[in-house]
Amino acid sequence: MSIQSFRSTGMISIEELRKLKLIPPEERLKKGPVVIVECPEKIPCNICVDACPQNAITIKNINELPEIDWNKCTGCGTCVAYCPGLAIFVVDISKPNKAYVTVPHEFLPVPKLGDEVTVLSRDGTKLGKGKVVKIFERNRTWVITVEVPREFAMEVRAIWVEK
Ligand code: SF4
Ligand code: SF4
Repeated sequence: MSIQSFRSTGMISIEELRKLKLIPPEERLKKGPVVIVECPEKIPCNICVDACPQNAITIKNINELPEIDWNKCTGCGTCVAYCPGLAIFVVDISKPNKAYVTVPHEFLPVPKLGDEVTVLSRDGTKLGKGKVVKIFERNRTWVITVEVPREFAMEVRAIWVEK
């Protein structure tokens, strides 16, 4: 698969993110929540750099891709709320069998803690159900953490609250 294929499909793959050094090493993933910045285009933006209280994200030149210091990232999710492209997520695979995925949510309704919501892949495919375990609001964006089966850790990238 070409590194550029996301331009024709409109959807980045894990392989492409790995090639762009945007996926943390397995050892870091296993330690606890960590940011996944799915920002593959060299667009003039660096909002995530200032949003991070740990200085874990750097962009050397505003037209370059973000670089992440995985060891500085605490997985707090603040940057998730500030990315205008809704391109930042937090993944936690430190617990057995389960994964915790944190996504931005700018639709109504907003789920409540403990709710079961539909979890969606990058292309909007329904993957199943997830349980809401954490919610906070920042920058007029809801940041929602859902518990999902471990195999969905790198697949779930949005939620849908069915009425
Ligand atoms: S999750 Fe928190 S610590 Fe990690 S990069 Fe984002 S803002 Fe920084
Ligand atoms: S804020 Fe979002 S779109 Fe802007 S550079 Fe960071 S990850 Fe990319």
